[in-house]
Amino acid sequence: MQFYVDGFRGGNPDIKDAAPNRRDRSEHAPLPEKVDVLIAGAGPAGLCLAAQLAQFPEIDTMIVERNPRNIAKGKADGINTRTMEMFQAFGFADKVKRETYWVNQTSFWTPDPENSAHIKRIGRVQDVADDSSEMPHILINQARLHGLFLEVMENSASRLAPDYSLAVRDLKIDPTATDYPVTVTLEDTGVNWGDLKTVRANYVVGCDGARSNVRKAIGGELHGDAAHQAWGVMDILANTDFPDIRQKCLIQSADEGNVLILPREGGYLFRMYVELDKLNPDERVANRQLTQDDIIAAAGRIMRPYSIDVKQVVWWSVYEIGHRMTDRFDDVPASEAATRNPRVFTAGDACHTHSPKAGQGMNVSMQDTFNLGWKLAHVLQGRADPSLLRTYSAERLAEAKRLVETDHEWARIMSAPPGASELDQGDEPRFVRAFKENLEFTGGLAVKYEPSALIASPTSQALASGLEIGRRFHSAPVVRVSDAMQMQLGHAAEADGRWRIYAFAGADDPRAIHRLAEWLEKDPASPVVKHTRTGEDIDSIIDVRAIFQQTFDQVAYETMPSLLKPCVGKLGLQNHEKVFCVDHKGLGDIFDMRGVDRAQGCMIVVRPDQYIANILPLEGGEALSTFFAGVLRPAQSAS
Ligand SMILES: Cc1cc2nc3c(=O)[nH]c(=O)nc-3n(C[C@H](O)[C@H](O)[C@H](O)COP(=O)(O)OP(=O)(O)OC[C@H]3O[C@@H](n4cnc5c(N)ncnc54)[C@H](O)[C@@H]3O)c2cc1C
Repeated sequence: MQFYVDGFRGGNPDIKDAAPNRRDRSEHAPLPEKVDVLIAGAGPAGLCLAAQLAQFPEIDTMIVERNPRNIAKGKADGINTRTMEMFQAFGFADKVKRETYWVNQTSFWTPDPENSAHIKRIGRVQDVADDSSEMPHILINQARLHGLFLEVMENSASRLAPDYSLAVRDLKIDPTATDYPVTVTLEDTGVNWGDLKTVRANYVVGCDGARSNVRKAIGGELHGDAAHQAWGVMDILANTDFPDIRQKCLIQSADEGNVLILPREGGYLFRMYVELDKLNPDERVANRQLTQDDIIAAAGRIMRPYSIDVKQVVWWSVYEIGHRMTDRFDDVPASEAATRNPRVFTAGDACHTHSPKAGQGMNVSMQDTFNLGWKLAHVLQGRADPSLLRTYSAERLAEAKRLVETDHEWARIMSAPPGASELDQGDEPRFVRAFKENLEFTGGLAVKYEPSALIASPTSQALASGLEIGRRFHSAPVVRVSDAMQMQLGHAAEADGRWRIYAFAGADDPRAIHRLAEWLEKDPASPVVKHTRTGEDIDSIIDVRAIFQQTFDQVAYETMPSLLKPCVGKLGLQNHEKVFCVDHKGLGDIFDMRGVDRAQGCMIVVRPDQYIANILPLEGGEALSTFFAGVLRPAQSAS
């Protein structure tokens, strides 16, 4: 973590200096008439976007939430490794790691062959494969997660906070207006219940959940099907003789259905998802009037011979599995996709819903808006053409489709009684096999964006075989040369809307890095020169880091080019955190771990949302310039 760049200031370094232009949020201050971005809904999707946009105080962001305050408990709890990598960029991964339950092993239980009325453990699987991510898979309650994002917003220079008790009722887009074309009608859901107000916005993002008004306003409909199966979920404090209660467990009984156990933060609490009644095709789950006692009773039947003594039900809910998504995640119909730029977007449950048991709802919702946040910032800062925003729906829709299909299959596998599926053939029960096959997907690590202006063709992929273009940058251990600090290279990146170039030095030509750095810093054709505005720090939009093959004691730090030790901030202080080398204490060699060509080295270009956009040889300056010219406007034309 770096701070004091603009001068010493005591106190908590997480709290940034407040920007002068921020909104008056005092009790009776009026709502703004116009904003750059209006976010509907302070769930995981909305808060992740708000936390990202809060890093740019020059962008007026407003986030409205129908409820009077943050939720206190319940809803989703699974955070996969990919989302933890994102939390690292927001600066709260360590806090999350400290206070959460880590899913290390998953246990599988099926009917005991000797007494099918009882369950028996049939195996365990390591939940996060070695070196699939440096982060754990964790469980935390959604309310606490919201709190962490709210803290990031509150500590940012924008001092952004949700406007509670305000719901988006409707919106209208004026296609002839260039400034603030979206008029949003907000309804007071608090003390002045029913009062209507309007706010004009340049962009609106509907993160307002499965019943999204924003989606309805842009003509979006959720398509899909329901499994006609009622499930119960409860967060409980209880004692039990079941031995694996502090492990994630998938339990299948012979005749009573399934249970999923998720141990939770704090060491005592745990969640149970419990299969309840089959529903008729035309029936809603609410008709059954199922209660927490029904969930506890069903859990007891499924878990036999073990028993559960419930001391406190903290939260419970009954739901029906549905797999649904919309045709597009913005307001532009397919027929106009090539000619019109979007103004209104949907994200998270507003555009895709699925079963909670694969633990994806919260994760995918936040990943949606992490994809959108930097794009909105680039466009609103004038760094990129608004057509960049078309890539949001294109990239995230494909991912949502994959999620809904996989989730559908997983729900089918989980719900079929043992022995009743064609998938039961083989040595392993189908749900163990399916679980293992899906680990990369459930970890959020299988996301791969297709070639586009933002994702280059894999022409030079062979230069780093373990860092695939289109996938997230897979971190590995390194040592920072200036202070011999062991760390993860991926942790050099923050959620600050900047691009990263990781330049790996090749053994054949040790000076190639120096030539590249010199060219990047000074040549008018360099993307760093072309896209950095006058007066901005040299790394304001493209942040270049270098990684050497030697250990830190063999790298001559004093010979590093000025681009790798730039003077930045108000005081022009030298940044000493851009030069890295391989780890010398046995954690692994990043060149070997990620298949980087030792002879030639290479450049890895990483987007602000941590996805690999391009891989190029160190001499590939021209191709690098061409790539960035397809994404960013020249700085002198930006406003
Ligand atoms: C009751 C419930 C129980 C759930 N249980 C589980 C679970 O057990 N496990 C699991 O994995 N997932 C569960 N989920 C799903 C999971 O919470 C979501 O997938 C995840 O929260 C999606 O995040 P989101 O931000 O897209 O939407 P949400 O978390 O639904 O957030 C949407 C927010 O928008 C607000 N809002 C709605 N309409 C408006 C409006 N018109 N104007 C302004 N604000 C509005 C809502 O109050 C809410 O705060 C549950 C969801 C619900 C609703």
